[in-house]
Amino acid sequence: MSLTEYNEPTLFAKHGSAERRFLELISALPKVSVQGYDKERNVIYWNKSSEDIYGYSAREALGRKLEDLIIPDVMKADVIKFHKRWIEFGEAIPSAELVLAKKGGEPVHVFSSHVMLKEGTDSPEMYCVDIDLSEQHAVRQELERMASTDLLTDLPNRRLLKQFLANAINEASTKHVGFALFFIDLDMFKEINDTLGHTWGDELLRAVAERLSDCISKEGMLTRFGGDEFVYVATNVKGEDDCEHIAKHLSRCFEQSFQLSTENIYITSSIGISLYPKHGREIDDLLKNADVAMYQAKAEGRNRYHFFTHALSQQLRQHRSIAANLRASLENNEFELLYQPQFDVKTGKVASCEALLRWRPQNEALAVPPNIFIPIAERSDLIVQIGNWVLKSACQQAKTWKQKGIEVRIDVNVSGKELEKAAYFERLATCRHQYHLVPKDIGLELTENILIKSDNTILENLRVQRDLGVEISLDDFGTGYSSLSYLKHFPVSHLKIDRSFLKGAPEKAFDSALMEAIVNVGHKLDLSIVVEGVETEKQSDYCKSLNVEFVQGYLYSKPLSADAMEALLKKQ
Ligand code: C2E
Ligand code: CA
Ligand code: CA
Repeated sequence: MSLTEYNEPTLFAKHGSAERRFLELISALPKVSVQGYDKERNVIYWNKSSEDIYGYSAREALGRKLEDLIIPDVMKADVIKFHKRWIEFGEAIPSAELVLAKKGGEPVHVFSSHVMLKEGTDSPEMYCVDIDLSEQHAVRQELERMASTDLLTDLPNRRLLKQFLANAINEASTKHVGFALFFIDLDMFKEINDTLGHTWGDELLRAVAERLSDCISKEGMLTRFGGDEFVYVATNVKGEDDCEHIAKHLSRCFEQSFQLSTENIYITSSIGISLYPKHGREIDDLLKNADVAMYQAKAEGRNRYHFFTHALSQQLRQHRSIAANLRASLENNEFELLYQPQFDVKTGKVASCEALLRWRPQNEALAVPPNIFIPIAERSDLIVQIGNWVLKSACQQAKTWKQKGIEVRIDVNVSGKELEKAAYFERLATCRHQYHLVPKDIGLELTENILIKSDNTILENLRVQRDLGVEISLDDFGTGYSSLSYLKHFPVSHLKIDRSFLKGAPEKAFDSALMEAIVNVGHKLDLSIVVEGVETEKQSDYCKSLNVEFVQGYLYSKPLSADAMEALLKKQ
């Protein structure tokens, strides 16, 4: 049959009735492409849909060999081999999803089934029935892209990062090269996000992603890990010097402000670095260790980078074990409150006392002081349960003393994490009610950093408490990020000057100038001043000369047990 003679009815007429029905059926399906090949794999049939998928017209295709048309080079030998086996040994070629080639060489995804007609005769014919999967493939690719892309920044996400890391580990272990992971966390993003609103917060994240993308090497991978965390994997890294160079480069991305709407926003980042294989051989270890290093960078003051070290990981383990022990102690009620009096300078009498928490685990060797365990508890929700215990115990004590006719305000230290929970103020009210207390019986001590970070709801709630008559002290004043000008916005009644200032004063001019400035501004704003950490007579005299209202410190009294505190109160 010459090519010009080709027409379908003639072709069908040569087959038996079952085969004819098959050919009639498939040629009637518009989306199914069918190609027929003779014993030498020359095209003998090429329907309209095959023209559409593969780009060859029937005229172009007929008479040419299968492998010269639509089979990619890498598959040619196999296709010829399988076809021969079918003809010689009757081994059918199974159906499969294949990537074949179009006329111009472009790949095309098809599901291909194969049928042998006139099997066992001298002129067997193989028919390939292909379904075009391009659309499905495109949809699948888009789904994959969506599953592996962060929709806000368009960066690869955590899932793709893990794949990339798996490949990087493979490559690094065969080629003996290293790579490094940079865990980049924006500093104070939450505060900026709260101030700007979420739309602009998102905009800032997009801008950061864009700037970081511009400054990294194309062989590496930058991903959004979640929230305000980005992870950059740099390949071909030789050692810590290379990493330092990259970390500095990344930090420089934040030197210029980000222009959002009408505002110029400055933001910095803290970066934790882990190196393969020095700091871990598994994906999760490398990520965890870079994260640990990032936390250390934050703890050391933010806007810096830190390498992972094994000492850090040991510290982390220690913190975990402390947290676990604290949890157990909460269940077993292994805490105690001590009370440290705060004295009225004018009368020399106890004006109030501060509740200070002590941890008394059954195994005393496990105990650590509050300045160690409180920050650990603050990193989890443990602090909320601990704070709850402190509040209840202080209320219980206040009630007991009241029943004995002893009136003294107890101030409790409140952590920022507690205030963030909406229920804090409800709990406070419930506790007062349950123990028959009034607002002035329980005072609150908060640090400036808590107040700076607080959103309007917290500040409003504190204002309500203040209006009810709750005394609120600004603790460790002078060590945080606020300035004196913030003071008038905070609903507080007392300023507690951090003891570090007293240490230097009155000898050190700078410290005493600061003390005096704080006292003056505090008084102008109608706040009472408390000086904490008074240890010597000289410091005590100095406080008196400054006209502060209250003093607290080892010179007057260490933190006391409830009984000792009661005895002291009864004496005066
Ligand atoms: P803070 O609120 O600044 O408490 C004052 C700390 O200074 C207490 O240490 C107290 O024992 C100590 N101190 C008092 N007078 C002197 C003095 O004259 N010289 C020196 N060198 N130190 C003095 P403590 O009890 O170890 O508490 C440490 C920190 O732990 C507290 O600092 C507070 O931030 C936190 N903390 C203690 N109890 C609680 C609590 O119930 N809840 C929360 N959230 N934090 C607490
Ligand atoms: Ca305090
Ligand atoms: Ca303090």
